[in-house]
Amino acid sequence: MQDPVVQVGDPVLRQKAAPVAKADIGSKKIQAIIAKMKKVLAKEEFGVAIAAPQIGESLRIFVVAGRVFKEEGRPGRKNGLVESEETARGPFTGQDAPPDQVFINPELTRLSKAKKEMSEGCLSVRGKYGTVMRHEKATIKALDENGKAVSYNGTGLVGHIFQHECDHLDGILYIDKAVRLEADEEMLTAREKVRGKN
Ligand code: ZN
Repeated sequence: MQDPVVQVGDPVLRQKAAPVAKADIGSKKIQAIIAKMKKVLAKEEFGVAIAAPQIGESLRIFVVAGRVFKEEGRPGRKNGLVESEETARGPFTGQDAPPDQVFINPELTRLSKAKKEMSEGCLSVRGKYGTVMRHEKATIKALDENGKAVSYNGTGLVGHIFQHECDHLDGILYIDKAVRLEADEEMLTAREKVRGKN
């Protein structure tokens, strides 16, 4: 069966994605792309975010799973790692699931000077995990799926995701930046599973 997520080696992952005209955000075409991204992301057990090039659309759009924001505000999370047992059981379901957040034409407006090593995986690079130096905090501004301007201070996992996803829109994969790269089995402890892939 064909992978629903475009895999490394496909040129679309290496293109600089095009911005979406604000007037087009409400169009059937763009709304269908966003709906497809959410659908593909929802099927990924450890998926935390997805960028449009990962479904073959070279556009500056990414979606972050709602549960990530929920986890971010949850007590017990430290150093960007989700510690609580409840979260470790898996994604939120039903009414407990906050909506996915859509970021269109995102721009990183501020990055903390402080960096740290983060472990990450990517839905477009199956079977691997790596260690990447990322800024500890990343502030983003973007348009949401209704064309409204939003900004968000990303700390921990959210800030990390913002950097990974913005890289996707510029044709950069984490494997280009990783200081270490390992096979999934070796690093996929329970804790890594919770961190998720994007
Ligand atoms: Zn990725």
